[in-house]
Amino acid sequence: MTRTTQSRETRADGTPVLVIGAGPSGLAVAAMLRRSGVPALVLERGERVGTSWARRYDHLRLHTVRGRSRLPGLAPPRGCGTWMGRDDFVRYLERYRDHHRLRVRLGTAVRRIEPGAAGAGERWRVHTGDAVLAARAVVVATGRCHTPRVPDWPGRDGFTGALLHSADYRGPASYRGRSVLVVGAGNSGTEIASVLAGAGAGKVWLAVRTPPNILPRASSRWQAAGRLMGAFPLAWRDRSALLTQRCTVPDLTSFGIARPQAGPFTRNAREGNNPVLDHGFVAAVRTGRIRPVAAVAGFDAARVVLADASVLTPDTVIAATGYRPGLEELLPGIDVLDRSGHPVVHGAQTSAAAPQLYFAGFTNPLSGALRQAGVEARGIARAIASARDPVPAQRRAAQAPAARRSTAR
Ligand SMILES: Cc1cc2nc3c(=O)[nH]c(=O)nc-3n(C[C@H](O)[C@H](O)[C@H](O)COP(=O)(O)OP(=O)(O)OC[C@H]3O[C@@H](n4cnc5c(N)ncnc54)[C@H](O)[C@@H]3O)c2cc1C
Repeated sequence: MTRTTQSRETRADGTPVLVIGAGPSGLAVAAMLRRSGVPALVLERGERVGTSWARRYDHLRLHTVRGRSRLPGLAPPRGCGTWMGRDDFVRYLERYRDHHRLRVRLGTAVRRIEPGAAGAGERWRVHTGDAVLAARAVVVATGRCHTPRVPDWPGRDGFTGALLHSADYRGPASYRGRSVLVVGAGNSGTEIASVLAGAGAGKVWLAVRTPPNILPRASSRWQAAGRLMGAFPLAWRDRSALLTQRCTVPDLTSFGIARPQAGPFTRNAREGNNPVLDHGFVAAVRTGRIRPVAAVAGFDAARVVLADASVLTPDTVIAATGYRPGLEELLPGIDVLDRSGHPVVHGAQTSAAAPQLYFAGFTNPLSGALRQAGVEARGIARAIASARDPVPAQRRAAQAPAARRSTAR
């Protein structure tokens, strides 16, 4: 049975602002709201903040440098190095919550968001497993990489080897001596293939549908370039990026990976993909430790049939084939998603169909999703703080200095 909950925050501050998800985006929004004197409650389905990160594979390192992976109001410690590891990043998120004194209710999965009762000051009603919470504004920060996506390949369910999504891959230990086909040449696929190849897997193939744009990992300049070159025409940005690739990354055409036709800026705008940062992948291909093959066409018992009609019989297939946001169930009947299930508004924007319903973390710019989390958080906090709400203005003003003190650096 559900009940309408009046939380401690609600009684003290009026109808609250609810943030759904305690990943980097949700935490950054809550921190910027607090800095603006707006109380927010973060609802997180997991038992810790940064749940998505804590579940990712053991050897995961960020592909954005530490300085561009920081959230507003607290930098990660220098000791984390240039390319932060998974555990350091999760510890950083925990410190971030404590530093900004954020209210996070763990173990609380939001099932549904629906419009609230008109005129009651509650624009939205948020259904958790056992309660219904009223909110004057809701920020959805449940992650762009929410639901693993595995293509519906013909014969997939009859495959007699092991098939898993990269979200369920933990590390190379259990693949020693075994043959693995990694599907997808993005950052996850190329990193997983490289680590498997260096950690004793029997054979490692990489199925490539679209040749990736590869840039050297040593250079972090492309991340700044993504931001700085925003004012230039797309074609110009692509030409200069393709030229950089030609000058810095060896041609892998003879190994089965052609030079990409489209530049990274076009691919980012069209497909939401970022370039692959080379972390040993190019060397592993050139020395034959990773064998690029054609895209997967389907499965036939133990066999994987490729687009060029060749056949492989790997022990395991790891599908690094991406994610979808999985927002349809959360927002039934609210007209804010496009045909691919992505929100049509981002950051401080809201749609006329859904006022005071914000989305954080659903874009993937070349300058980095984590850096963008800060940009969106500041915009959302400004928009919510300036909207008319039932919280008396003088109470907000009285809260603001304390909040600012607690976030000063
Ligand atoms: C493998 C991988 C590596 C990446 N590396 C980088 C990188 O190096 N640099 C970079 O800039 N970006 C990177 N990204 C992209 C992006 O920065 C991350 O996905 C980042 O975690 C996004 O933060 P988020 O808060 O939007 O989503 P998430 O981190 O996914 O957080 C969403 C939170 O919402 C919770 N949640 C979901 N549904 C519900 C619900 N119904 N109710 C309550 N809680 C819910 C989840 O448990 C989770 O804690 C990477 C992505 C992946 C998949």
